[in-house]
Amino acid sequence: MVETFPITTYFMLLLLFISFLVSTLGKPKLSTNCLPSKFQNPVYQNRKLQNLDIISKLRDDHDAIKLASSDYGNMVHEIPASVLYPTSINDIETLIKFAHNNSAPFTIAARGQGHSVRGQAMARNGVVVNMRSLKNHRNGFGITVSGTPSMGFFYADVGGEQLWIDVLNATLEHGLAPVSFTDYLYLTVGGTLSNAGISGQTFRYGPQISNVYEMDVITEKNRKLFYAVLGGLGQFGIIVRARIALEPAPKRVKWVRMLYNDFSVFTKDQESLISLNGRKQKNALNYLEGLLLMDKGTPENWRSTFFPLSDHSRIISLVTKYGIIYCIEVAKYYDDHTLNSVDKELQVLFEGLSFIPGFTFEKDISYIDFLNRVQSGEQKLQSQGLWDTPHPWLNLFVPKSHISDFNSIVFKDIVLKRNITTGVVLVYPMNRNKWDDRMSAVIPDEDVFYTIGFLHTIGFNDWETIDLQNKDILQSCYNAGIEVKQYLPNYKTMEDWKNHFGMKWRTFQERKAQFDPKMILSPGQRIFNNN
Ligand code: FAD
Repeated sequence: MVETFPITTYFMLLLLFISFLVSTLGKPKLSTNCLPSKFQNPVYQNRKLQNLDIISKLRDDHDAIKLASSDYGNMVHEIPASVLYPTSINDIETLIKFAHNNSAPFTIAARGQGHSVRGQAMARNGVVVNMRSLKNHRNGFGITVSGTPSMGFFYADVGGEQLWIDVLNATLEHGLAPVSFTDYLYLTVGGTLSNAGISGQTFRYGPQISNVYEMDVITEKNRKLFYAVLGGLGQFGIIVRARIALEPAPKRVKWVRMLYNDFSVFTKDQESLISLNGRKQKNALNYLEGLLLMDKGTPENWRSTFFPLSDHSRIISLVTKYGIIYCIEVAKYYDDHTLNSVDKELQVLFEGLSFIPGFTFEKDISYIDFLNRVQSGEQKLQSQGLWDTPHPWLNLFVPKSHISDFNSIVFKDIVLKRNITTGVVLVYPMNRNKWDDRMSAVIPDEDVFYTIGFLHTIGFNDWETIDLQNKDILQSCYNAGIEVKQYLPNYKTMEDWKNHFGMKWRTFQERKAQFDPKMILSPGQRIFNNN
């Protein structure tokens, strides 16, 4: 179809596209004699067919713009000039090249599932690339599983636009699975690799970025940017393929929660459990998280239903008595070979733990149900109209040496006293040696650090109150000298970004200058385009 367009039509479309972008970019306006003539325009000269394709794949209709200017956070809305619905990797390549070579470069943001909460996947007046559009054009090669069974080495080549749930389902067909997940699986591979991808498996297997063998990345320049891109907040290129480490998948999971009323005992036990973390270490846990149980709501939260209904009242009594109850959540995978030993292994692991006697709870579920446990929570919230509300979420990494101060200053003095925190509050430790410092992701400089996630569920009118609390939490940490790092960071000034990256800032800047010198990519992070 594209090839049959007469050249003049093609050129008109191209000009229309350029003038549309120019008129909406908000950059210094180009005078018409600056518009590339068909002889000056490098895209026209070199890639006219692909470019013609791009024009037919750019949308600026209401639905496309609405989607691209919203995200899960529902608090930031940035209107792009256009949305690219790519049907090939070439389309993305062409767009980036076109923006780069244009005398008025425009910004470009890859949008995976748009599950950011602060507009990170948006591009005001630029072009948003709807990565999910690629999914239907992979000709069956969106997720391919390979390996050398004799060496026990397996991997999956997956498109950056693929959802982790689809990666999981496709690899399970081969009896394999990725080793490191996020709690929620309806996120894209490109989106989580641009951050880190953390969950209860991280203490042992590292974040998702530590489980990638290679990637194809489209960038303005240079292809040697593997480490830059991992945790790189979309700043250096668009991930179109990642080779993900796989291992044989277990069949079932023993899933256990135990309750504590003393924070120092809770963290001591968590730290003891994550000290067993060798990938091949048979007696180690496969997953460890932790959460707070507080006044608002039932002991259940949207992320999972777990506690037997018959135990709710005694758990609520405990929460009422102590204000905050701390809950360790662990999982041990098993299959036919380990069916008879898994309980014994857990028993040994739990010896010496100091949870409140009588307050341990266990479930035995399939591996897929365990990994996909958050989806039922999503369905519940959807049905209550609480999924598409604002999400002023705050995710932090806190060094182990300050976690006790964090409990006093934040959990006790702010969260408990104000009693406005709703939804999930996660608290669990991970090991620094499972991360790779060459990557762009930023973590505290201690061997063990905690992730804290305030994952609020609120109505439409409450987010500003919660946001104020978030600010107070950050300010209180700063005042007390607790050096927290934001995960899924959101800062307003260059100074804040410098502080966030610390020792890595120089490298991050140099990489930006090297791979995206015109600062085209992922403007919604507001690192280099923070006006
Ligand atoms: P988007 O929001 O679409 O994009 C995020 C950033 O990545 C943007 O800057 C975007 O430009 C860039 N980007 C997107 N695709 C690409 C690509 N292919 N190449 C380069 N850059 C790209 N995170 C965890 O680590 N663990 C969790 O357990 C977890 N649970 C979550 C649960 C829910 C319900 C939600 C809403 C979020 C959760 N997150 C979790 C956060 C999530 O990992 C990040 O928000 C992630 O960025 C979302 O992926 P996405 O596909 O929606 O990315």
